[in-house]
Amino acid sequence: MVAGSFQFVCSQRGKPQLIFKNFLFNSEYSRGTRRSWACVNYSKTKCRVRVVTQGDRIEVRHWQHNHEPHTSIIQQKRFFAPPCFVQSARGNLQLVVNDFLFNTEHKCGGRQYWQCVDYRKTRCRARAVTDGNLLEVRFAAHNHEPHTDIINRKKVKRFAHLLPAGAFQYVHSRKGKLQLIWGDFLFNSEHVHAGRQFWQCARNYRTKCRARVVTHGDQLEVRHAQHNHEADTETIRKKLACSGLRWE
Ligand SMILES: [Zn+2]
Ligand SMILES: [Zn+2]
Ligand SMILES: [Zn+2]
Repeated sequence: MVAGSFQFVCSQRGKPQLIFKNFLFNSEYSRGTRRSWACVNYSKTKCRVRVVTQGDRIEVRHWQHNHEPHTSIIQQKRFFAPPCFVQSARGNLQLVVNDFLFNTEHKCGGRQYWQCVDYRKTRCRARAVTDGNLLEVRFAAHNHEPHTDIINRKKVKRFAHLLPAGAFQYVHSRKGKLQLIWGDFLFNSEHVHAGRQFWQCARNYRTKCRARVVTHGDQLEVRHAQHNHEADTETIRKKLACSGLRWE
């Protein structure tokens, strides 16, 4: 596998797609943290090109397309990329896109709207929308310098990129904080250390449940597997239903 520059986009039906070297791929299936992608021409021209992604790495299976690149389709696509989140000093979730910081604006129909943190200061109109694992950048033009220094100075720890999704999934709490769904249980973000995100069972407070996991990139490590309560199935079902996400 090589680290390659590829981009995630979203199909008209909301399915994840991949752009790699001017060709467009549909998501086939994911196994663990690996996701397999087939050229969108698979059914039309029987193109057999396939790639596999894992984190920021990509592995090319066959590379002999039997058609022209998808340049014009790709240009029409809205730009999507895996969202990257950081935590503000107050513990709120902030979004990082190309070294610019965004604050939560509002939530609507499962979609989280974000506005540039300089909105008040410079009237910057840059905005983004996240929907589960997908990020859509609206008004990408900022009227100021990137927040690279702020991001570095705050030593904010970046959360993992959210695609490709493995067996776990991120959601937002009603207060806009990041939560994790793993198995039938919901976890709250505890802290971040050396790029690793620590999570504790969302019922820790009420039932003193000690279940804990750690995520690093798209890897999940179980620290304490045993819950002392029933599964959060109903809460999770509601959360996913209202965010329009599908559970993998
Ligand atoms: Zn192809
Ligand atoms: Zn801005
Ligand atoms: Zn628990």
